[in-house]
Amino acid sequence: MSCIFCDIIERKIPAEILYENDCALSILDINPIHYGHALVIPKRHHRDFLEVEADELSGIMQAVHTVSCAIVKAFKLQGFNFFANNGAIAGQSVFHFHIHITPRYAGDNIRFVLRLKRYEPNAMEETAKTIRSAITAP
Ligand code: AMP
Ligand code: ZN
Repeated sequence: MSCIFCDIIERKIPAEILYENDCALSILDINPIHYGHALVIPKRHHRDFLEVEADELSGIMQAVHTVSCAIVKAFKLQGFNFFANNGAIAGQSVFHFHIHITPRYAGDNIRFVLRLKRYEPNAMEETAKTIRSAITAP
């Protein structure tokens, strides 16, 4: 199965590499939201966050932290976002898990268009129960 991010990790195709550690590689996104928009990509191929294994999590997040600090310092940012799209319905287009880190600027008008809901009485408690009963990790 061909995967563009595996090809980048294996240096088969070029990318602007920012940082790497044992678990993850960070590159510039080729179509940035803002210049400096970076991706952190686990070295092991996983379709989405659910497939990432516990022993990789700290290395991946350490790379997110290191690259975020560098982007904030380099561009003297007042804020930034990091996020991941999981599944096509959530906007994922490359099916090798990755975390986006993007600079933010005053007035850049980038936002999710949100229509916030309110819980009906007891629905919040029921929702929490449903999630708690599905938790399997320690
Ligand atoms: P997503 O839509 O969350 O799956 O994000 C995939 C991201 O990968 C997009 O922001 C693309 O611009 C970026 N991308 C795709 N191909 C490359 C590439 N060859 N080098 C760098 N970034 C890429
Ligand atoms: Zn891959």
